[in-house]
Amino acid sequence: MSKQAKRKMPILFVGHGNPMNSISDNQYTRSWAELGKSLPQPRAILAISAHWYIPEVAVTAMHPPRTIHDFHGFPKELFDVQYPAPGCPELAEEVADLLNPDSVSLNNGWGLDHGTWSVLRHIFPEANVPVIQLSLDRRNTPEEHYRRGQQLAELREQGVMIIGSGNVVHNLRGFDWKNPSTVAPTWAVEFEAWNRDRLVSGTPAMLTEYLAMGEMAALSAPTPDHYLPLLYLAGLQDSSDEVSFPVEGFDGGTMSMLSVLLTGE
Ligand code: ZN
Repeated sequence: MSKQAKRKMPILFVGHGNPMNSISDNQYTRSWAELGKSLPQPRAILAISAHWYIPEVAVTAMHPPRTIHDFHGFPKELFDVQYPAPGCPELAEEVADLLNPDSVSLNNGWGLDHGTWSVLRHIFPEANVPVIQLSLDRRNTPEEHYRRGQQLAELREQGVMIIGSGNVVHNLRGFDWKNPSTVAPTWAVEFEAWNRDRLVSGTPAMLTEYLAMGEMAALSAPTPDHYLPLLYLAGLQDSSDEVSFPVEGFDGGTMSMLSVLLTGE
C-alpha cells in the first residue's frame, strides 16, 4: 500500500465568499487551485455547505447531482457554470448509517449548490470525484452540529474527504463591494483570530461557544449558516492533526476567506 493510501483523508473548511469567485481569477481562486494540487485524490467528497440550511438532516442520494444556481442578480456566465461531478448514493446510505440514531433523509431534490461547486471547480477542476452534500439542520444547536461532525470521523479512513464551505466571518451589511481590499474591521479580525487560536491550540470544542464571544460573534456571524460548516471540521479534528490555513484574507472587509486544513497520518 502506498503512503498516500494509508493516510487519513484531510479535512477542509473553505471560505467561499462571493459566488463570482467561481469564475474569477483572483488571489483566493488561485490559492484554491494550488491547494487542490497538494491534496490526495479522494474516493468521494462529502460537502457541507452554508447554502443547504434546512429543518432536517438530509444527504443527497441522486446520481448525478445537478448544479444548482442558488443566487440572483449575477451575470449569465455564472448561471452557465456546470459542475458535472458524479453522485454516490452508496456513500449517502453510509452517512445515514453513521448518523444513526438521527433520522436522515436520502434526498433526490437538491444537488450541488454554489457553496460546494464554486470552490470545487477550482480545487478539483476535473469534476471526476463523486460528491454528495449533507444539510445543516437549522433546528440544531452548535453542539449538535459539532457532534455530527464527530460521528463522521471514520469516513476519513475510507478515502472520503469532508469539506465544509461557509465563511468564518460573513457580514454582507458591512461588505464593501467597490473595494475588495478594504481594511477589515477589528471585530472581524479578532473573531477570526479567536477561531484560529482554538483550532491551533487543540481546543476545537470551544467553537461551539462562539455566541458567548458577544458583539464580535454577532457581527461576524449575524446568521449561523456560514459559520456552522466550521463546526463539522472542529468535531472532526483529531489531537494528532496538523492545522494549517492555506487561504487567508478578508474580501470587502467583512468576508473572511480563511480556509482551514487538517492533515493527519
Ligand atoms: Zn455563501
